[in-house]
Amino acid sequence: LPAGAVRGRFAPSPSGRMHAGNVFAALCAWLVAHASGGEMVLRIEDLDRARSHRRYADQVMRDFEALGLVWDDGPFYQQGREERYREAFARLEEGGLAYPCFCTRASLRAASAPHAGERRVYAGTCRELSAQEARARAERQAPAWRIKVPDSELQICDLVQGAYRQSLASDCGDFVVRRADGSFAYQLAVVLDDADQGITSVVRGFDLLSSTPQQRFLQQTLGLPAPQWAHVPLLCAPDGRRLSKRDGDAALDALLQQEGSGRAVIGRIAFVTGMQPEPEPTTPDDLLKRIDVGRMLRRWRGVESIIWPATS
Ligand code: GLU
Repeated sequence: LPAGAVRGRFAPSPSGRMHAGNVFAALCAWLVAHASGGEMVLRIEDLDRARSHRRYADQVMRDFEALGLVWDDGPFYQQGREERYREAFARLEEGGLAYPCFCTRASLRAASAPHAGERRVYAGTCRELSAQEARARAERQAPAWRIKVPDSELQICDLVQGAYRQSLASDCGDFVVRRADGSFAYQLAVVLDDADQGITSVVRGFDLLSSTPQQRFLQQTLGLPAPQWAHVPLLCAPDGRRLSKRDGDAALDALLQQEGSGRAVIGRIAFVTGMQPEPEPTTPDDLLKRIDVGRMLRRWRGVESIIWPATS
């Protein structure tokens, strides 16, 4: 790669057809990488076995191709990387940084004060269990594993949102790195995947900004490099709800049908998000020639969401 060029990634979860918001985030990631003269990696985030399906992964790839969102490396899958996740987890455990947690969903709800909306801060209930007690309890119940977070402020620098600070202790608490069923948590997998795949630019939706400090902390702890982050606005329905894969209107199949082509869908998304003044059909390549990607990102500072209007 030329100097200054980044290696970005598409990281779709194959749990359904993409919607306009997923396409928007992918388009931004593609534009940021290519504006730097860099390249894109495709990673299928199928860590959650119950919700991931091969047919959706295949569909996502066909959709990216139809939209002109090409990747240069991959697809890489998370399934099959368990050994890597296990090895990193073992290092955390051996270093005394991860501890078993026997709290149930109900006890967590009771013990932790609601904080920042949905978010609950883990009260640290199982942090002080003695090794002996933990062993005894583990015979009756498989524990989840949490990582001990420090009581200090952590700051990340986001290309769109600027400096973002969190105190992991008071904003998040010790968080889960391995679930009771033995599977590894997203936060752990994503930092290992990004590092192993040489990712230097992470462009994704605003909803993930608040978990970025957890990822930064894991990177520091495991000695992994930090990518450059850019959290772009979420697309939301007119009632303020973020689009989901269950929203028929914004689903890519409906959009393709309404708009008529991949180019028209890209053009509509670029128009709604202010990248171009008219909804004319375009391609990512074409857009790249016409817009200033740095300015585009700066314009979204402080913008959490953009309304996605029904086009019909
Ligand atoms: N797989 C996540 C999603 O589809 C993206 C996570 C990330 O970009 O780090 O929402």
